[in-house]
Amino acid sequence: MIEKIVIANRGEIALRILRACREMGIKTVAVHSTADRDLKHVRLADESVCIGPPSSLQSYLNIPAIICAAELTNASAIHPGYGFLSENAEFAEQVESSGFKFIGPSSASIRVMGDKVAAIKAMKAAGVPTVPGSDGPLTEDTRASLEHGRRIGYPVIIKAAGGGGGRGMRVVHEEESLLSSIELTKSEAGAAFNNDIVYMEKFLGSPRHVEIQVMADSHGNAIHLGERDCSMQRKHQKVVEEAPAPGITPEQRKRIGERCATACTQMGYEGAGTFEFLYENDEFYFIEMNTRVQVEHCVTEMITGVDIIKEQILVASGKTLRYTQDDIQIKGHAIECRINAEDSKTFRPSPGKITLYHAPGGAGVRMDSHIYNGYTVPPYYDSMIGKLITWGNTRESAIARMNGALSEIVIEGINTNIDLQKEILSDANFAVGGTNIHYLEKKLGLD
Ligand code: ADP
Repeated sequence: MIEKIVIANRGEIALRILRACREMGIKTVAVHSTADRDLKHVRLADESVCIGPPSSLQSYLNIPAIICAAELTNASAIHPGYGFLSENAEFAEQVESSGFKFIGPSSASIRVMGDKVAAIKAMKAAGVPTVPGSDGPLTEDTRASLEHGRRIGYPVIIKAAGGGGGRGMRVVHEEESLLSSIELTKSEAGAAFNNDIVYMEKFLGSPRHVEIQVMADSHGNAIHLGERDCSMQRKHQKVVEEAPAPGITPEQRKRIGERCATACTQMGYEGAGTFEFLYENDEFYFIEMNTRVQVEHCVTEMITGVDIIKEQILVASGKTLRYTQDDIQIKGHAIECRINAEDSKTFRPSPGKITLYHAPGGAGVRMDSHIYNGYTVPPYYDSMIGKLITWGNTRESAIARMNGALSEIVIEGINTNIDLQKEILSDANFAVGGTNIHYLEKKLGLD
């Protein structure tokens, strides 16, 4: 069993990992930048190591510094959290070759899923439904590209194999601009991702974002934990997430979930993972797999009772999954609102000192956050300062609890998006459920 874990992250997820470790009797090492000495988990960890200056490149993305910290403290494993190095195959490889356990899949799995063309190929082989497309890279053969376009039907989207974070994509509405768009996306992708491979997909007009949580061990067992709906987005950033996804039937869940679990077994995938789909007209279309824990994992935890971080640590320790598929029962409904240090209207980041903080509470209310009275939100990192999650027996009661919690929470000294969250939670279409990925931007007049 893993005895000591380096938490290679910051903020709420670092605290979340620390809490799981404490519950399991595992020692923790917090690694932090000079700007993060006052983070809550740094104070609570058994040991802490400063790994560099505020800039992420020199601290949270500094592979040698993190591995050194593991060596110095005699740790046995490294948990990467999300973001930063969590999907960096090179990091996973170096962690393993330095003799530590990387809490996540193998570097080979990370590498396959980090290349979208390879990922789609692996999904097709496993019977996971994908978006109709070029089934491979677009080549110099312009006739073949034009044929793909005709077969798929316009509009199409040209995507970079190495793209991420919503970058490296271009929608093409008619054949006339196809070839120039391919060239443009290729040269942009080459410059941005050092990889100019692009491929073509059907562009779906008004999909929802529905994703499947999976968990697999190193003994060939894999299960799914149902789906989440993360369609409430702005600039490809999720704002509100919920589980289960409104309108998805148990049969649909079973069918798509089992395909994802089978794909894990076929790929020899280990740990937590998420299959992201666009969902339109009752069909799922795979777009990418995240090979790490996700921000929104908590809504799944609330409806299944599975502690995803603990399970990650257990399977990384070589243990067999404690659950079979039949053990996973979905109970009630959970919603998560991301709380960001930013202006509700302009979305400008709002770092600074929190002069007053009152956390919400009550039955079915969970606040995953590292902030406290007097904590200063540094300007160097992501603006998310917490996640407010509510659970209820029904979607209506989860929403009612969220409305209550949002009116109870007090954060003073900085601006937050709490007003935006209140607006979304009281939106008539959100109340019905099932809005698409463009809904929020349209509502805000940003499209
Ligand atoms: P990234 O890795 O950059 O997040 P994704 O492949 O996950 O890239 O796509 C990001 C977003 O781009 C999706 O959430 C969706 O909004 C849009 N998108 C991607 N592929 C398509 C498609 N085939 N049709 C419509 N929208 C798409």
